[in-house]
Amino acid sequence: MNKAESQTIANLFDGAGYRAIRSPGNADIIVLNTCVVRQSAEDKINGELGLLHEVKRNHPQAHLLVTGCFVDADTAALKKRYPHVDLFFGPGDTETLLQWATEKDDIGCLSRDDLAAYREGSPLHAYVPIIQGCNNFCSYCIVPYRRGRERSRQIPDIVREVESLVGSGTRDVTLLGQNVNSYGHDLDSGISLVHLLEELNEIDGLSRIRFLTNHPKDMEDRLIEAMSRLNKVCEHVSLPFQAGDDDILKAMRRGYTGGQYLRLVEKIRASIPDIALATDVIVGFPGETAQQFDRTMDILKTVRFDTVHVAIYSPRQGTLAAKEYPDIVPADEKKARLVAIEKLQEEVVSAINARLVGTAVEVLVEGNKKGKWYGRTRTDKLVFFRDAADWQGKTVMVKVTRAGAWSLQGDVSLPEN
Ligand code: SF4
Repeated sequence: MNKAESQTIANLFDGAGYRAIRSPGNADIIVLNTCVVRQSAEDKINGELGLLHEVKRNHPQAHLLVTGCFVDADTAALKKRYPHVDLFFGPGDTETLLQWATEKDDIGCLSRDDLAAYREGSPLHAYVPIIQGCNNFCSYCIVPYRRGRERSRQIPDIVREVESLVGSGTRDVTLLGQNVNSYGHDLDSGISLVHLLEELNEIDGLSRIRFLTNHPKDMEDRLIEAMSRLNKVCEHVSLPFQAGDDDILKAMRRGYTGGQYLRLVEKIRASIPDIALATDVIVGFPGETAQQFDRTMDILKTVRFDTVHVAIYSPRQGTLAAKEYPDIVPADEKKARLVAIEKLQEEVVSAINARLVGTAVEVLVEGNKKGKWYGRTRTDKLVFFRDAADWQGKTVMVKVTRAGAWSLQGDVSLPEN
């Protein structure tokens, strides 16, 4: 989400004739886009703002703008604390940025038309935010406090943005939201993610659609059905389960049990048999015993995910968990649990990938490194192959000859006549 928002801000300034440079010391405008998902990230921003104070002292005419989750609703308090910052604007709040720019005579004209432009980097794959905020208030998470309640964009706006991206070369989009599968619940008209996917699926020139991150409780049957029916929606879904033990899940306020999660996975697999599953897990939540952690391992062993992101629990000031539950699992025990998951996962993914040897996979080619083409499958697996033809930006069938935990190797597989 932060990457997508940074790109939007870059597009606005790019459209007004600015160009990106490396050093803030020589910049006319400095934009700090922040993430505070962990306390350590928030502490880092304080340090960064101190350094930028120095820069402002040497270049008082430079404008310093701060956005992202560091910026909460009380911008007046932030302004008091950091008087050297010219503007605080909330995550994704480009309206405030545009408004501020129109009031400054020395800033070139920022235009709404540039919001969705993609001028830099690979246009092949793009991130498109479709919903901001979250209503769930999981006990460990700061997101709802910083990004506010759920706000979905209107379908026509998103379709226009994706069409414009496809017009400039994008083939693969990932729709973003902290809780992406509750898209549309805040719009009055009974709109859901299914309606959006159906419209995007019709866009000529677009090959692949993904969306993240999903909440298990919002994974409705009609969404699973749409994923299996719509040909551009990839066989790849992120479905964080966070913990396997029901008491821990309850303390996390996740709204499902381990058993319900497993049944949901079964339902998805029954509908989309080759789906690749990704998940997020937290280890060392307050009071998590070794036996409770085993329930997490049980789910990992039962489901056999393609990707697992593991986070070590750390209390986040302002959340319910930080207030109510002492952080008592020792740091070395948390680390050991993380290592145990990583070890298991390497075995699981190696076995999943080994089964692909001898099969042909569809690869959207992103580039060439040291004479090897590379790209991703619809299930988000990285594939390398050698070939003399120019495959940049194209889709090619590759026959997998070797598989490791992190990537596949293969040869171009030409259709037989
Ligand atoms: S659903 Fe995700 S973003 Fe929302 S509160 Fe829970 S962990 Fe945070």
